[in-house]
Amino acid sequence: MDTYKRLPLAIQRGKGCWVWDTKGKRYLDAVAGIATCSLGHSNNALRRSLTAQLNQIQHVSNLYEIPEQEQLARWLVDHSCADKAFFCNSGAEANEAAIKLARKYAHCERRINRPVILTAKASFHGRTLAAVSATGQPNYHKNFEPLVEGFKFFSYNNYQSFITSFEQAEINGPSVCAVLIEPLQGEGGIHPGEVIFFQKLKEKCVKEKILLIFDEVQTGMGRTGNWWGYENLGIEPDAFSIAKGLGGGHAIGALMVKNHAALFEPGDHASTFGGNPFACKAAYTVATEIERRNLLPQVKQRGSYLKDELKKLVNRFPKQLKEVRGLGLIQGLVIRDDAALTAPAFIHLALKERLLVLAAGPKVIRIVPPLIINNNEINYILAKLEAALNNCS
Ligand SMILES: *Cc1c(COP(=O)(O)O)cnc(C)c1O
Repeated sequence: MDTYKRLPLAIQRGKGCWVWDTKGKRYLDAVAGIATCSLGHSNNALRRSLTAQLNQIQHVSNLYEIPEQEQLARWLVDHSCADKAFFCNSGAEANEAAIKLARKYAHCERRINRPVILTAKASFHGRTLAAVSATGQPNYHKNFEPLVEGFKFFSYNNYQSFITSFEQAEINGPSVCAVLIEPLQGEGGIHPGEVIFFQKLKEKCVKEKILLIFDEVQTGMGRTGNWWGYENLGIEPDAFSIAKGLGGGHAIGALMVKNHAALFEPGDHASTFGGNPFACKAAYTVATEIERRNLLPQVKQRGSYLKDELKKLVNRFPKQLKEVRGLGLIQGLVIRDDAALTAPAFIHLALKERLLVLAAGPKVIRIVPPLIINNNEINYILAKLEAALNNCS
């Protein structure tokens, strides 16, 4: 169907941070499959481990024990605040699992009959019906009503707005069972979470026995320079969803939970493909490669270099650009509201300069390169952004 508005580019192959189109033209890929190809394209470790996995076994059902799944679960638990994992195939599915878990928690632990989950305005949680209902952006809801009930919205980073939504939801007694929130809003415009807001939010959740669930689909797996976005905020969620960067470009998602929230029992939830040997081997390879190459400090360093240089660009183009927002290797270059330029238009200009970037809303240019990017490649991004800006001014 006509589901996607596609750019006039067919990518045929890739190596590291670079891709080539069917005509042999080379581009720097600062999209990375939308923050998924963490190790870049055609990574040697992934090629080796996945070739071996293809030769061994590709898919078995969760009717059986799956050693590759146990190995990945063990790694994730050892490297996060969580104690248990449920595996699925995408970010939306991980959030679906989180929503079902929150509702089971409401019914079984809190005796709430009509549970409400609070989520943020300008959030993004995916496109399945419950995930899109949880998404605080009306444009994603249009024509898909009736939505799944039981979601109420508050303004991100605004504690007063959170309290107002909480109190409205609880007007006839307890009903709020969970908060689902991104530690940095990605799709909604690259808004990092504020430490003070999140600390107050955490306190309130503990006090009211509300599950605090993070959507780490875009921020997780090293994107911000820490393994998990919550580490930037000095708090731990009760559960968090991951996907995008987890498989290094292969389809896998997970819901990670602490023991006290690990309420699913046999029969509650399942996925045919979730946690299969191939996907789990991909994710385990990504995780252990990031560790072996000690990429996290590098993501921080290169991310702050990129951010500092983007700020200089903002100073050089004050009529077009407003500011830079982001953490590590998820950065948003924000276009001024009163500039004629839009992010989608800029994407085309960048493409002409052989640079792939994407939008996060109408006025934010999102830069999410592979985590392996080096300083020369960052300089290439900066030079091409500048060239594209010169072409539109
Ligand atoms: C991309 C994204 C999702 C949806 O993930 P899919 O794999 O496309 O279902 C959910 N939440 C956040 C924060 C995302 O960035």
